[in-house]
Amino acid sequence: MKYLVLMNLFCLLGVNTSIASFFSSDKVDPEFVVIAHRGASGYLPEHTLEGVAMAHAWGVDFIEPDVVMTKDNQLVVLHDVHVDSTTNVKSIFPNRMRKDGRYFAIDFTLAELNKLRVTERVKVKDGTRYFPKRFPLNKAKFEIPTFAEFIELVQGLNQSTGKKVGIYPEIKNPEFHIKEGKDIAKVFIQVMRKYGYEKSRNAYIQCFWPATLKRLKNEFKTKIPLIQLIADNSWKETSADYTKMITKQGLVEVSKYASGIGPWIPQVIDKKHSVTKLVLWAHQAGLSVHAYTHRSEVVSKNFKNEKEFFDLIVKEAKVDGLFSDFADKLINYKMNN
Ligand code: CA
Repeated sequence: MKYLVLMNLFCLLGVNTSIASFFSSDKVDPEFVVIAHRGASGYLPEHTLEGVAMAHAWGVDFIEPDVVMTKDNQLVVLHDVHVDSTTNVKSIFPNRMRKDGRYFAIDFTLAELNKLRVTERVKVKDGTRYFPKRFPLNKAKFEIPTFAEFIELVQGLNQSTGKKVGIYPEIKNPEFHIKEGKDIAKVFIQVMRKYGYEKSRNAYIQCFWPATLKRLKNEFKTKIPLIQLIADNSWKETSADYTKMITKQGLVEVSKYASGIGPWIPQVIDKKHSVTKLVLWAHQAGLSVHAYTHRSEVVSKNFKNEKEFFDLIVKEAKVDGLFSDFADKLINYKMNN
């Protein structure tokens, strides 16, 4: 409304509309954060160095690696504690499954994981794909990167291109790692510090489990901004209660140890495409909001076009950042809206 009044005023005064739009609150905030989710996962297998290079070339603000631990205490970039939904582990190490039939990264040394080839994500049950139109299965050659290799690629490209792309790592499933006798948070923060992120702060650290974020803040005294990821309780992602966390009071509690939250998009926009109170309450608690995950395949089922979705989540819901499998499209939107 205010915008319309201003525009009319500018028209009456004969002011150029581009000047008028400068005063408009309708532009995407230049500080809006574009996060390449698992690299360039809409186009190349997730969490591969090739995908990282592609996302870097787009000029995203941050690239996300998920981090898990190996048997010999190395950090590798994988979304799951399992390796059977994105690699050929079954054919290379057929007898290394656990009783539940799954293959866990933590049961393999880095040298063993280096023998695997990474491919597009499939459903473990029947081998079918989540996104059949993405990169073909078992084509070309992709490998599991270590967290250090991921960082060295991003920092190397920053040097050679002059860009300042940051990293947005997620510590995966700390409760599982602790149960397996692995202190993933401790090893993780050592690597972050070794590569200068405590100083540069060109990073966010995300985790679903509050205890790990609190530990990073209180025990390791990190100054790197911490993001509390928010799941739905039905996923049993951790032992935390996310229903309680997304209340007004719950968000005030989160603000005592984190600088922002990473909610699931349906927690920000409901089924009827109405904006929930979550972003408002988070902002009132001083928390930034980086929602996950924009996927073109999902948007095309629920919205007229990509712009309609971006307008809703960015301009109406007013999130401060978005994780995207197609971050090139998000950058394009940010630049032109
Ligand atoms: Ca993640």
